[in-house]
Formats: sequence, C-alpha cells, structure tokens
Amino acid sequence: MSEIIYSSTRNAEEKVTPSMAILKGLADDGGLYVPNRIPQLDVSLKDLAAMDYKQVAYEVMKLFLTDFTEEELKDCINKAYDSKFDTDVIAPLVKADGAYFLELFHGATIAFKDMALSILPHLLITSARKNNVKNDIVILTATSGDTGKAALAGFADVKGTKIIVFYPKNGVSPIQEKQMITQRGDNTYVVGIHGNFDDAQTGVKNMFNDKELEEELAAKGYQFSSANSINIGRLVPQIVYYVYAYTRLLGNGNEDKDDEIAGEITDSEKINVVVPTGNFGNILAAFYAKNMGLPIDKLICASNENKVLYDFFSTGTYDRNREFKLTSSPSMDILISSNLERLIYLIAGNDAAANATYMKSLSDSGKYEITADMKAQLEAFYGNFASESETASTIKRIYDNTGYIIDTHTSVAASVYKKYVSETGDDKKTVIASTASPFKFTRSVMDAIDKDKYDQMSDFELVDELSRIGNVAVPAAIEDIRTAPVLHDRVCDKTEMKAMVKGILGV
Ligand SMILES: *Cc1c(COP(=O)(O)O)cnc(C)c1O
Repeated sequence: MSEIIYSSTRNAEEKVTPSMAILKGLADDGGLYVPNRIPQLDVSLKDLAAMDYKQVAYEVMKLFLTDFTEEELKDCINKAYDSKFDTDVIAPLVKADGAYFLELFHGATIAFKDMALSILPHLLITSARKNNVKNDIVILTATSGDTGKAALAGFADVKGTKIIVFYPKNGVSPIQEKQMITQRGDNTYVVGIHGNFDDAQTGVKNMFNDKELEEELAAKGYQFSSANSINIGRLVPQIVYYVYAYTRLLGNGNEDKDDEIAGEITDSEKINVVVPTGNFGNILAAFYAKNMGLPIDKLICASNENKVLYDFFSTGTYDRNREFKLTSSPSMDILISSNLERLIYLIAGNDAAANATYMKSLSDSGKYEITADMKAQLEAFYGNFASESETASTIKRIYDNTGYIIDTHTSVAASVYKKYVSETGDDKKTVIASTASPFKFTRSVMDAIDKDKYDQMSDFELVDELSRIGNVAVPAAIEDIRTAPVLHDRVCDKTEMKAMVKGILGV
C-alpha cells in the first residue's frame, strides 16, 4: 500500500503524515490538510456488502491513514463503534417517501457528529503516541450545537486530553444546550458566547493561529488540537457510511428475505446522495467516497435559509456578506463553510497558491469568485435550499403519509430532494443523510406536525408525545438529561474567548 501524505490547502510545502495531520488539525498557515491523492477502494463492492460496519470502516480508513498499523486502526474502530450506538448495524437505512434515509443518529448524542467523534479521540491519542507527543492535548471546539456535545461525550475522561467547547449562547436548541451544560468529566469545559457560530469558529481559528499562545501553552505542557470537522480525523470516518449505505442497498444475497433494503440496486448502479449541509464536511465525505470509486452520481447539497452554498453553486461566487438567520435547523446556520476550502483547492487543480488567494479574499472582503473552468468541475453537485415553511411542511407531509418522523435538518434535505426531482425528473435511487434524531429538535418537529395542539406542552412532555405518535422509544441520550444537574455555567463575550481559555488552563 503506498503512503498518503497530507499537505496544506494553502501551502504545498507543508507536508505531514496522516497521524500528524490528525494531531495538528489545522496546518500552520491556516490551511486544511488534504491527501495527495484520493485512494481507490481495493475491495469489491460485493465483498464490502458482506462486511459489518466495523469491517467496512477498516477497509475505507486504512486507505487514508496509511501510517496506522492494522492493529492500531482496528483498535480505534472497535472502541468507537460499540454499545455507545443503540443498534448494532450502527447506521440503519429506512425506506420512506421514495428515498432511503441513512440514519446517522444512533450514537451517544443522537446526531451524525457521533459517527466521527466517537472515533476521533482514539485516532488522536494513537497519533500522539506514534509521534512521541508528551504534552496534554487540549481540544478547542466551536459548535453550532451538535459537534459540541458529541465531542464532549467522545473526549470526556479520555486520559491526556482536555476539551473546551464554545457555543453561541442564543443559537442552539434548549435540548442541545442542556446536553452540553450537563456534561460530566473533569476534563470538560463548556462556554456560551455572546455571538453566533461564525464568531465562535473565528475565535477558535484565531487561537489556533496564535504563535504566542502556542508557546505559553507549551511551557505548561499543553498543545491544541481540533475536533472540528476540519480535522481529517473527522472527515475520513464520515466516508465510511456512504460506502456502507451503498453496499447495504446492493446486498450480498445472504440477507433475510424480509430485508427491504438489500438488493434494491444492482452491481455498479449509480445512486444520488442528498446531504443537509452546513460546514460542508458531511457532503465532502460523500464526494471523497465518489472519487474512491463508489457509484454515486449527483451530490445534492441542501441548505436552509442561510443559502450561501446554493448561491455559490448557482453563480460561482461565494459571498458571506448577508444577514445571518437563526433557523429551525441550527446545526446548518453557517455562513462560512470551512470544508469547502478542500473542494476549492481540488478544482483549482490542487493549487495551494490559488486557493490561498481565494481564502484571503474571503477573509478580507467576505467573498470570492471562482473561474469558469473551476465551476465546470462542480458538475457532480446540485445545490438548493429549503425555507422554514418548506422544512416544516415536509416533516408534516412525510409523517402524515408514512408515519415516519424526521428532524428539521433531515427535512431540509428531503425538501431539496423533492425540488431536485421535480426540476430534473431524475429517478435514480437516492440516499438522504438523516443527520439528527427528531428527539433532538422536538419542539420544531412537533410544531411542524401540529402547532396548535403542541404549543402549550413543555419540552419533555413533547418528547413523550413524539415517542407516542412516532411509535419510537425515547433515546437514552434524552432520558439522561431529564434529571441531569447543570455542571457548566461559563459565559463570555466573543472578544474574550482567549482570556477564557487561558483562565481555564491556568496559563
Ligand atoms: C453538523 C450537522 C449538519 C451539517 O453537517 P456539515 O458537515 O457541517 O455540513 C447537518 N445536520 C446536523 C444535525 C448536524 O449536526
């Protein structure tokens, strides 16, 4: 197997091994690490169809993390995809409304971030060990709601690590906030900021690029790393479930006869994938899967009313200068989609200098425009968005027609998928990434189904009602926070994030 080397999207000279890329998170020049090539699957789809989630994870991840031994990687995978998930298939497919919903929310915090964040701590600790790192690792994370809790849950009480999470104080759902501020673990810190997610993300990025702070930390035996979706240790595990989903639909002929998923597609039949998108991490993973040889045709990028990506795909101009909207799908309330940089780098012809110019323009003026030649390479993508009322009516329509209840983020995807089909008539089989349990966004989901009826109920009454009408058990993650004590109450201004970190670490 030939080695994969990672280099910065902003400086071709900065090259590191996979384990160093995981450890550092972000390159020194502020760029993101990208593999020098996208490896091809070296096991047939039929063979993958006979494997379970962990085995598929190994076959995919080994191709990107070439400096991990088989034993190291399998150990990380085994520690991640265990009974923290409430189903042993890890990511079930549910057929409903003319598509296949890939449920990525069966982990500890009932959102898709668990898919990667349950393995990242193990990849990180293994990477530290491989590179003789003696410092404690401090995970610094900005969250629009779901990453924070999933990262806290992943890192809580992991030896040699501390985790500090910043979230927009008024920009996450009540259940998301409660999940975070009740987090146990002596190495966990949660801070609400007066600002939005982009402010939190910018503050975190600035700290990563702060050389002086890095030296002060090192003197105390600490170094930063990132659990945000810019870390390739997040991106690579997300490729797995697209390969897994495709091969479940393919089947290997040995399934139960009442399995309604296996055998839905034939060998090398192309499928479409719809992804509710914010930071562009999840859909980028699908794009990597496609480039590894997985038969995916269209990558359908679904945005909420913060439709900066839809505008980008339609016009070739990325422009963040616009009003930031708080929507019912808060994990997608993002105007700077960090992972898009990896795509820009690629369509610029793996040209770090060109990409660096675009990113400088983004930080100076809030926008950039790609060339016609670059835009022509975005053919695989289709972008659209769903308004708040479309998101709500899709939840209601699917519930009324099928009894299946989806969350607001997934509904943005399902709404955009309907627009795609009516615009194009494309009837290829389609997988919709279902990124959160409806129990995580209960209020919005129940309002969508019948606002008049549910308006007066408390959050937890709604949880029980959702369980009853949807005929699904309340997930353990929700049961746990009903009575859990609040353990975190730090709040600061968006300009005080660095002081807060120094205070927490005592530097
Ligand atoms: C994070 C998140 C998204 C967006 O994923 P990106 O990788 O940031 O594009 C969508 N839905 C939910 C529920 C999320 O938590």
